[in-house]
Amino acid sequence: MKHLWTPWRSTYNNSKKEPGTCVFCFAQSGTDDRANLVVHRGQHCFVILNRYPYTSGHLMVAPYSHVSRLAGITDAAAGEMMQLTRLAEKVLEHAYRPDGLNVGMNLGEAAGAGIEEHIHMHVLPRWRGDANFMTSVSSTRILPESLTDTYKKLNGAFQGNEFNKKL
Ligand SMILES: [Zn+2]
Repeated sequence: MKHLWTPWRSTYNNSKKEPGTCVFCFAQSGTDDRANLVVHRGQHCFVILNRYPYTSGHLMVAPYSHVSRLAGITDAAAGEMMQLTRLAEKVLEHAYRPDGLNVGMNLGEAAGAGIEEHIHMHVLPRWRGDANFMTSVSSTRILPESLTDTYKKLNGAFQGNEFNKKL
């Protein structure tokens, strides 16, 4: 096998970011959450769509703090990061009915982080057979849903708070 398979390795490039600005810091500091793909804001962390998703519904949970290691955030932020990861799991299961999910983090470029300076937890729905020929061979991904539609669906689910009450 030539490559270690890491579905969340895809680079998070944001074409709207200013030069030298971290994409997570840029997104969280903006006022237009829809344009910046921020679907939910907590007290210490926020949830954002991956602009280049591995599958439809690919979410990332990130702290507001610009840190490169989990140990760099407060206990409260770490707790909320896990809480929002669990919420993302519930939202994705409800919205997409996947066969499974990937949940994980890459700390440092050597570990596969696309944006290594600002930690983020990937949460993405998976279906049997979605790692298909096209993905394996050419890195081409077949995404049946537009980011606009994904945003509407997931932003609505997060803001609805029906899942929050169940946690
Ligand atoms: Zn940052």
